[in-house]
Amino acid sequence: MSNIPIIDLIYPRRCPVCQGIVENTDRQALICIGCKEKLPYVQTPACMKCGKEIENPEQEYCSDCVRMPKRFTQGYPVFNYVEPLKEGVGVFKYQNRREYADFYVDEIWKVHGKDLLKLNLDGIIPVPIHGRKRRSRGYNQTELLARGLSRKLQVPDYEKLLIRQINTLPQKALNDKERLDNLKRAFFFCENDVKLKKVLLVDDIYTSGATIEACTDALLQGGVQRVYYTSICIGKGFN
Ligand SMILES: [Zn+2]
Ligand SMILES: [Zn+2]
Repeated sequence: MSNIPIIDLIYPRRCPVCQGIVENTDRQALICIGCKEKLPYVQTPACMKCGKEIENPEQEYCSDCVRMPKRFTQGYPVFNYVEPLKEGVGVFKYQNRREYADFYVDEIWKVHGKDLLKLNLDGIIPVPIHGRKRRSRGYNQTELLARGLSRKLQVPDYEKLLIRQINTLPQKALNDKERLDNLKRAFFFCENDVKLKKVLLVDDIYTSGATIEACTDALLQGGVQRVYYTSICIGKGFN
């Protein structure tokens, strides 16, 4: 008991996946042992564009990237968007468990850190949410991830350069094309004074890729040359 910091006794660390208390056997542990074994990492072969798992090892790209070619250079998602992680990400996003960012940053770093370092990035940009949403929620989870990654990768993060201008229509009611058009109008890249050439976008969940594409579009128009993205999860079922 004497080795346990008092703060951990008062506020024991909770598991970001099941919300249970993380036992103190390993003080560095950010997740409980049970959930650790069940983490749904993206397996290879994965799409060379978006990073999604693909069934057929002969294919280089998932059917979604073939059908709707992407303008970003490459994606680095960590987990499949399935349980038990699905619920955990929801809690991180909506229930003010900001401290869970540590776990997700750590996972992105462990899985993709080496590759991300090789990209020689100039900047990290969180996918923004609309100002009104940010105010009601009190934070934007992607900013927390971007900050953590900035420290790990030693690359500056820019939270004010990419702005979400309007509250977009509910994406679910739209077809692919409308979805993209709706989103493209939503993002505005403030003048690229810092002259960023290679940028990493950070998001929590990649589903159809429309959000990342819309952000990529805004960045490319603003003079960025290459856009990459990383996300905690990537949706299954689009291939
Ligand atoms: Zn757990
Ligand atoms: Zn793909």
